[in-house]
Amino acid sequence: MSTPTPPHDPAALHWSPEEFRRHGHAAVDWLADHMAGIADLPVRSRVEPGEVAARLPRSAPAEGEPFDALLQDLDDVVMDGMTHWQHPSFFAYFPANASPPSILADLVSSGLGAQGMLWSTSPAVTEVETVVLDWLVDALGLPDAFRSDGPGGGVIQDTASSATLCALLAARERVLEGAGNRDGAPGGLTVYASAHAHSSLEKAARVAGLGSAALRSVATDADHGMDPVALAAAIDADLAAGLRPVMVMATVGTTSSTAIDPVAAIAEVTSARGVWLHVDGAFGGSATVCPEHRDMITGLDRADSYVMNPHKWLLVGFDCTAFWVRDAAALTGALGILPEYLANAATASGEVIDYRDWHIPLGRRFRSLKLWWVLRTYGIEGLRAHIRAHVAMAQELAGWVAEGDDWELAAPHPLSLVCLRHRRDDDVAARAMEVVNASGSAFLTHTRLDDRYVVRVAIGGWRTSLEDVRRAWDDLVAAARRIEGRTA
Ligand SMILES: *Cc1c(COP(=O)(O)O)cnc(C)c1O
Repeated sequence: MSTPTPPHDPAALHWSPEEFRRHGHAAVDWLADHMAGIADLPVRSRVEPGEVAARLPRSAPAEGEPFDALLQDLDDVVMDGMTHWQHPSFFAYFPANASPPSILADLVSSGLGAQGMLWSTSPAVTEVETVVLDWLVDALGLPDAFRSDGPGGGVIQDTASSATLCALLAARERVLEGAGNRDGAPGGLTVYASAHAHSSLEKAARVAGLGSAALRSVATDADHGMDPVALAAAIDADLAAGLRPVMVMATVGTTSSTAIDPVAAIAEVTSARGVWLHVDGAFGGSATVCPEHRDMITGLDRADSYVMNPHKWLLVGFDCTAFWVRDAAALTGALGILPEYLANAATASGEVIDYRDWHIPLGRRFRSLKLWWVLRTYGIEGLRAHIRAHVAMAQELAGWVAEGDDWELAAPHPLSLVCLRHRRDDDVAARAMEVVNASGSAFLTHTRLDDRYVVRVAIGGWRTSLEDVRRAWDDLVAAARRIEGRTA
């Protein structure tokens, strides 16, 4: 027995353009109200595990619901369970700025709903991306070798983790001359980074078939930057043992403390040994929009690849990672694949970029739109003002810390992250931070440096002011004093 096909009327099933306009306005109004009132909300969510899930029905509705009901449940179901990353007193992890023009660009990108996997599947998606990443090369003071008018170029990826994996795959295939793609990764390949490098490198080593044991953790100096002499010794020892060094990752602005590896000295080591140099500027890379922060990328002209996240500090909403390579052929050689169903005249002409060959997924959104809109809305000068304000607030906070009796600086603060430790007692530091976080007045997270408990104050939210930093600092000091039994 065959099921009868019901008559299908799309107009009866979907919102009309007028309904979309009305609901869209309501959604934007909801967000604008949220922005206006966000400073009064607790920064960190206070829900218990399972609390949000318990407010949801056990199954999807059989019949469609009106849009009003969906918006209402943002307030009734969701908001208690949100930690507010856009809150002016969010100082945890690193910022994830979603500026207003970026939000609207994401809306438009979703609405256009195009897949930009090939140039031919939406030429504007590819060409805006190429041009805007070239703009960013200039805006950030990056080497010309990363521009698209030579053998190099840039691509937008979802995260720095993915970009670092792609760098490792390109480096692996360069060493193996393509044999890794054919036969799988052989044993004996090695990767190098400082002990403070981001965990995404170890994950990349696993995914690329090298394994965690391939990762060499290079010693650091007193400021937690990589020691290039130790790096050279580690590579030479592996070479002498018959191993094959694939890639070195230097970090400009580590996640723990924004330590800056000496890129130029590291590039000397990698160039002399023919090892791929990848530089991770995921957070710190935004700062080089200001000329006064470009010292940290001296030597980048000898790197093979570079990644930074406009979705952290540069006002572009998650996700938007910018990744550049000096030799695009090394990247597409590792990742390019052309099945018959994607073959087309533009690809065959060799005159266009097909970004699907520059990253892991096939499908890709119009992510350059939000980068383009942010660059145009703020201008380079606006972005500089944004970065400089946070760096200045961090220096101010560092001054307050150094003047006080209870806390001290735990690391240099070249950018906008300040690392503090309690002068007497790590346990007091941990408990004081939890008191502040539980109160909802600010949100701070921690790390460990030199085997001490360290509170990180990561300044960088688009609405954060010096008063917000001062309040978080005063709250932390007062909480620690109460825990120690001192009076504030
Ligand atoms: C945040 C961060 C990453 C990872 O970023 P994702 O885009 O979330 O993958 C990598 N490296 C550093 C230094 C970071 O701070």
